[in-house]
Amino acid sequence: MTSPTSPTSPTGSSRTPRRITPGLAGAPTDVDVVVVGLGVTGAGVALDAASRGLRVLAVDAHDLAFGTSRFSSKLVHGGLRYLASGQVAIAHESAVERGILMETTAPHLTHPLPSLIPLGPGVSRPLGALAGAGLVGGDLLRRAARTSADTLPRPRRLSAAETRQLAPPLRTEGLRGGLLGWDGQLEDDARLVTTIARTAADRGAAVHTHARVVAATGTSVQLRDELTGADLAVTCRTVVNAAGVWAGDLVDDVRLRPSRGTHLVLRPEALPHLAVAVFAPIPGETNRFVLVLPQPDGQLYVGLTDEPVDGPVPDVAEPTEVEIGFLLDVVSASFARPLRRSDVVGAFAGLRPLLDTSDGAGEGSTADLSRKHAVLTSPSGVVTIVGGKLTTYRRMAQDAVDAAVASAGLTAGPCVTATLPLLGAAPREALAEEAARADHPGRARLVRRYGADAGLVLDAALEASGWAADEVLAPIAPGHATVPTVWAELFFGITHEGAADVADLLDRRTRVGLVPADREVAVPAAQRALEVVAAHARQSGR
Ligand SMILES: Cc1cc2nc3c(=O)[nH]c(=O)nc-3n(C[C@H](O)[C@H](O)[C@H](O)COP(=O)(O)OP(=O)(O)OC[C@H]3O[C@@H](n4cnc5c(N)ncnc54)[C@H](O)[C@@H]3O)c2cc1C
Repeated sequence: MTSPTSPTSPTGSSRTPRRITPGLAGAPTDVDVVVVGLGVTGAGVALDAASRGLRVLAVDAHDLAFGTSRFSSKLVHGGLRYLASGQVAIAHESAVERGILMETTAPHLTHPLPSLIPLGPGVSRPLGALAGAGLVGGDLLRRAARTSADTLPRPRRLSAAETRQLAPPLRTEGLRGGLLGWDGQLEDDARLVTTIARTAADRGAAVHTHARVVAATGTSVQLRDELTGADLAVTCRTVVNAAGVWAGDLVDDVRLRPSRGTHLVLRPEALPHLAVAVFAPIPGETNRFVLVLPQPDGQLYVGLTDEPVDGPVPDVAEPTEVEIGFLLDVVSASFARPLRRSDVVGAFAGLRPLLDTSDGAGEGSTADLSRKHAVLTSPSGVVTIVGGKLTTYRRMAQDAVDAAVASAGLTAGPCVTATLPLLGAAPREALAEEAARADHPGRARLVRRYGADAGLVLDAALEASGWAADEVLAPIAPGHATVPTVWAELFFGITHEGAADVADLLDRRTRVGLVPADREVAVPAAQRALEVVAAHARQSGR
């Protein structure tokens, strides 16, 4: 493994990594595979195909992680929920993919998350026993997937005192104890997508943001550069449609039935000293919970809902006041201090790309639609990959590329992504030590968000800005502790990660935008970063 401050990639190569490009300038016009969409699925497909030796062009109409992939719960799930409904194969697949992500491909972007089910008045003894059995089942899944107990410790029953210690703001009346389990958590979902896309580019894929596919056959696509309005025709051997909830816009024979999931963002003070995720039982439901999820930056997310979405699919889904009220009510029942509407500093919603397999659309609950992914080859030859989840993106990509290679008769190497670390990957403990040793809090933050590529990010920021190290490592909004982002993150987003505007920087390369008040404070910095990089490039004749 490379040192966290080395500009080399974990593959040992010291060449300059290929960068993600906004717009279609320099895009190839003849490739093996065109990938439509750069959410987690499309980024995974681009990486899978490029690492098998195929010539790849991967594009997104907006930006990396523009769609559902940035609005997830940011969990790396082990598939317990599928086990509960008897879907053993999907549960096993999820647990295997969780292990690959946490132990091999992205230890730098994932960490174990302790989760607590408080055994209070809202959880009857039979329900508590059921939840306990579920955690034991989850641990069996972990073992079957050969994930180490060092990565995800075994679950255990806690006394009432231990429960209170881990989650001081819990309601204590009637608290009998708790159940402690472990799952994986992402540093950030959009950062995972960006890192997969960057790794795909490093493996030779041409990755372009702000480039929309307006029409596709199995052997050609028409593209529009959303920055300049220019058109481009590209010939290819196969097209993989990974456009998420918009996949049906490109092919007639794929029908989706999206469901909306909403999360709230709270400041840490709303539920102080919460060191674990808490499962708050939904009254009247068996084994369904609202989750309170502490984030690496200290914020708390509360989610999640499951509401069918009818009509046209919006670019960005909006949470409703009814959903916000529901989440506040459920969580308040488990904590000593009821949450108020004023505790909510942000709210976001994502759309699950669920495949509609029913005869008559619009019937039944979206919670019943299969979460398993599907690969569908249209009569035109376009291969569509939908469904699934963030945790299983690698397997989804493998299945999609297998299908595309078979249907187009391509010659490609075997899938290697299960053993291919993403850029910046290094053992979690080594990175933690590196962050602890860092001589500047900004540098420690870069190690947390870019792993072994922290040095590359810093060097790129210095070069792109012409600023001093202390300046690029400084927070972009001094005096606003809720905006810990540093300048180097913005500069690197522009130079290496295909960010073209303020929204790319604040809503996807960083997640400042999840809290509107923080976003407002950060907008001038994002504008300045774009100006500085453009001016410095002009001066240095690039
Ligand atoms: C609320 C919620 C919470 C979730 N939580 C979790 C979780 O904790 N863990 C987990 O494992 N999974 C979770 N999931 C599931 C997971 O987030 C999704 O399955 C996954 O993000 C879908 O990714 P995708 O790449 O298929 O779609 P998207 O992320 O939506 O990407 C599709 C992309 O295609 C682009 N596009 C569309 N049309 C075109 C076009 N014509 N040309 C070019 N580009 C185009 C869009 O701009 C978009 O960026 C959650 C889902 C939801 C809704």
